[in-house]
Amino acid sequence: MSHTTYLEAGVLSFTEVFAAQQKAAIRLRNSTAAERIAKLKKLMDAIKQHEHAFIEAIYADFRKPRAEVIATELLPTLMDARHAIAHLPKWMQPKKVSTPASLFGAKSYVQYEPKGVSLIIAPWNYPIYLVFGPLIYALAAGCTAIVKPSELTPHTAAVISRVIAQTFAPEEVACFEGGAEVSAALLELPFHHIFFTGSPAIGKIVMQAAAKHLSSVTLELGGKSPAFVDESADLKDAAEKLVWGKFVNNGQTCVAPDYLLVHCKQQEGLVGQIKNTIDQYYNPDNQGIEHSSSYARIVNEKHFWRIHHLLTDALDKGAQIAIGGKTIAEERFIAPTVLTHVTSHMKIMQEEIFGPVLPIVSYNTLEEAIDFVNSMDKPLALYIFSKDDKKINQILKTTSAGGTCINDCIVHLANPCLPFGGINNSGLGKTHGFYGFEAFSNPRAVLRQRVGFTTVKTLYPPYGEKIDNMLKMMRHFFA
Ligand code: NAD
Repeated sequence: MSHTTYLEAGVLSFTEVFAAQQKAAIRLRNSTAAERIAKLKKLMDAIKQHEHAFIEAIYADFRKPRAEVIATELLPTLMDARHAIAHLPKWMQPKKVSTPASLFGAKSYVQYEPKGVSLIIAPWNYPIYLVFGPLIYALAAGCTAIVKPSELTPHTAAVISRVIAQTFAPEEVACFEGGAEVSAALLELPFHHIFFTGSPAIGKIVMQAAAKHLSSVTLELGGKSPAFVDESADLKDAAEKLVWGKFVNNGQTCVAPDYLLVHCKQQEGLVGQIKNTIDQYYNPDNQGIEHSSSYARIVNEKHFWRIHHLLTDALDKGAQIAIGGKTIAEERFIAPTVLTHVTSHMKIMQEEIFGPVLPIVSYNTLEEAIDFVNSMDKPLALYIFSKDDKKINQILKTTSAGGTCINDCIVHLANPCLPFGGINNSGLGKTHGFYGFEAFSNPRAVLRQRVGFTTVKTLYPPYGEKIDNMLKMMRHFFA
């Protein structure tokens, strides 16, 4: 049900849902692990029941292949929920911390309490996982949530809305469909936490809105994630992983390798391996990639022409097509495309591509490639294909990124024990596993005094010589 139909049907407005969630959030502060786990299980069941509907909806949205929906949307969602269910009792336990001798007699611990009413704004590219992933952590932390899926994948958003309406009372979880205007209206409300996944440009708008109420934010953003391929890399292995990482979801993945930095001696060999791999994955019968059932489409015309423009701008400025290049506008089809002779003056090297075009920048020295990466915003992911530990460490220690895979790509996000998120332009805050739970929790500091006499009491007024001597002694022992 869209935002307007909610209102027209006289069901519940944003503010009514928000007010109801504010009340529920206070009650949920005291919720037990068992109660939260029961909600997560209910959500898992509902998602499983709607599996077929999700597969059909997302195909209608951008022809995402069934296997990719299961591998990159449903499985990660269910696995995250399972991990949260298994670890929640431990995550919720107060964490004892040591207490300095200067606070003699006290004990201290951190107690995780739910932040309260949360807002989850999701993008279109992984429309199922990027709604339910954050929702799992909101529920695990004991928060209520209002969810706003992307308007660019309306079929999937409708199924999400149905799942939420059938599974939760609106005072605990509610879904409002719609575009920027719905987000903007929701952002007027004083949420306790806002979990936004999307572009850096909209992330800034969200953060500005959050500032009005000092709502805390997690911003899961994007950017240009580079992949290094050095002289020692196994080219066949690198090509197999890079082709999957770049072209899964039709290149519309926040952590897709955006461009490659390839040692000049490896470029020709790597392009050959990439070409073989593309044929193997997407054109095994030589019928043309546009007929492959394993290859999705660009989400809408606007994005098709945006990527088309990046491609033509690069070609006009001297880039060369090493592989692919075919486009079919009516189908929003862009073949897996690899460009060489790319320079930083081309738009394709200045903005996130978010489509199936892979520019290769070749380098002579590793320092040169590292300087190139460091001249840009810090990326969400940075990949290294190399067998040389010295070079791997050099790259790790002289660059900055949200996350890194060595000799692989994308899969770091599949380990719930690793924090997932960007840094500065690619994001603020982390999610997945405990880090997701933490994003929706306030780590409340608790210090419990166990004795009447405390060191601090010796410093209470009236001040004078006695206190000065005490301070002198404390400086001597503690400072
Ligand atoms: P987007 O920023 O255009 O939209 C994201 C959400 O914000 C949508 O729900 C949209 O309706 C809403 N929105 C749009 N305009 C708004 C406004 N003015 N005010 C408030 N909300 C508004 O992003 P997108 O195109 O849906 O997704 C692509 C981007 O998301 C890429 O940059 C990609 O890298 C990033 N991304 C990041 C991650 C991650 O985990 N870090 C995951 C997926 C996508």
